[in-house]
Amino acid sequence: MSKRVKKELKEEHWKGLGVSDGVVVGRVLRVHSGTQQVYRAKLDEMDMRREVRRLRAAVRLSRRQLLAIRTRAEKELGVAHSYIFDAHLLMLEDNKLIGEIEEFILKERANAEWAVKVVGDKLLAVYAAIKDDYLRERGSDIEDVTQRILVALSGGHPSYKNLIEDAVLVAEDLLPSTVAELDYTKVRGMAMDNGGWTSHTAIIARGLGIPAVVGLRDLSRRARTGDPIIVDADKGAVVLHPSARTTDFYRSQKISQESRTSVAAEKFHGPVRTLDGVDVRLRANIELPAEFVGVAKFGAEGVGLYRSEFLLSQRGPMPSEEEQCEAYKEVARIGGDAGATVRLFDLGGEKISGAFGDAERNPALGLRAIRFSLRWEKVLRLQARSILRAAAFGKLSIVLPMISDLTDVRRARSIIEEERVKLESEGKRAGTVKVGAMIEVPSAVFVADKIAREVDFFSLGTNDLVQYLLAVDRGNDDVAEWFRSLHPAVLQSIKRTLDAARDAEIPAVVCGEMAATPAYAVILLGLGATDFSMTASSLPRVRQTVSQIKYEDAREIAEKSLECATADDVEELVRERLGAKWPQLFPAQSLPAKKSKV
Ligand code: PEP
Ligand code: MG
Repeated sequence: MSKRVKKELKEEHWKGLGVSDGVVVGRVLRVHSGTQQVYRAKLDEMDMRREVRRLRAAVRLSRRQLLAIRTRAEKELGVAHSYIFDAHLLMLEDNKLIGEIEEFILKERANAEWAVKVVGDKLLAVYAAIKDDYLRERGSDIEDVTQRILVALSGGHPSYKNLIEDAVLVAEDLLPSTVAELDYTKVRGMAMDNGGWTSHTAIIARGLGIPAVVGLRDLSRRARTGDPIIVDADKGAVVLHPSARTTDFYRSQKISQESRTSVAAEKFHGPVRTLDGVDVRLRANIELPAEFVGVAKFGAEGVGLYRSEFLLSQRGPMPSEEEQCEAYKEVARIGGDAGATVRLFDLGGEKISGAFGDAERNPALGLRAIRFSLRWEKVLRLQARSILRAAAFGKLSIVLPMISDLTDVRRARSIIEEERVKLESEGKRAGTVKVGAMIEVPSAVFVADKIAREVDFFSLGTNDLVQYLLAVDRGNDDVAEWFRSLHPAVLQSIKRTLDAARDAEIPAVVCGEMAATPAYAVILLGLGATDFSMTASSLPRVRQTVSQIKYEDAREIAEKSLECATADDVEELVRERLGAKWPQLFPAQSLPAKKSKV
């Protein structure tokens, strides 16, 4: 590349959502979603049967390709990931979908390509209208399958064999089977225009343990294969055409991060204790089966939070009692002796399913979580029964989301109790479950002492606590700079909640994203938290941090933080004090950035 061209490539910064951990310095591999151009042809009467046969042959070819991909995915990504391709295979084997395409060919005398496109687009439109993020993102499965059939119709096979070393995949969105066809040994990171925390790209990136940032709007239009790129998943940032200075900075950060991870890798299991002997529990938050393997792998002490609404998304509008029961049994099995906490469906807000009502004007303050379950009592009863039955096979607790008033706790508890009695009268086995409350709404903090007397434990949801306390939408990028986890009001609320739990002698698990950030975990510990739950892959770094600090020192820093007037002051203090006390753990650049989102 000539000097002139180099000069023209100015460093560009992009902000998105980091959906996994880590930093990568690599080169762009632009992956096109491969949208085939499809034209309409009018067939002669006599050609229509042949066209249907052509479609069936393409479907068979696609099926063979998918079976091969699934086998490969199973081998290279683990069984937990191959279920994505089961969904694709099911679509190909779905007589209704293929039947509809065939019917379109015959009725409209259309060529197979056109029929596939029209029927596929119709289905896509249905998915696009779904309000549930997870389900809407499953629209990419339809796109993927449609695309595969179209390529098969043209006699081709999608291929991305010519991967460059240190490839950072850049695309509008990554179709799952494209991911499966890639050579993972060379894929170092992902940067996508679209996608969310629950998209396949995010799931697979986390499963592979590679940095990924999504929601980058039009990055893919600016990036060319071979362009230097940096993906900083920790900060949700991407730098295109980085300067030598920026590259050096990130390379040093990457090395310090790798050395931290490799030290941690040797210490994944066993008790976690501060240098001055305070025991700390580290549990896992889980949502999807793909994450289940991480619980044992990273030595989590059971499951601190199972976000059960992801079960709903995977299995359609409302899974049956049997289906739910099986799922909770599996979660209990994953939790093992330490147990697992199932959170009642945290539906509503951005997660609401269209089947349960119209869009709300202000969903975060609407019929969400426990309010949703109390309004749709049948849903709550079904879930309670399923959990109680599963609890006969393993150690399970229930946590009630978005509690704002003790009355909600009482109502939910009495319904759960009624279901237990009912199960017993039906001669069905029900296990004992502890019932806890999520403390994530400011009003609950104020009456935490009262709530603590009527629940078995607290789960501190710092994500929502920050959102509601500071009146800042946690999903809106425009107000991200106001989302301050270290705001003194947040710290005081956490302290108050932990004190209430301690006085009532009940456990309090901190399960929001704050717990997964080492510097914040230190402050949480200093405020009195000794029980954390987080994405399993974050456990090693928190484990390492906790085992190399003194509780007394953390307490001293936390107490000073409580006296600060602004979030800036707390961040400044934390940056200074942690860096000075534990330079080996907190090199300047690894401290949470100013105005960090979590
Ligand atoms: C939280 O609010 O911090 C939490 C743990 O739950 P969620 O992120 O699912 O709202
Ligand atoms: Mg929450």
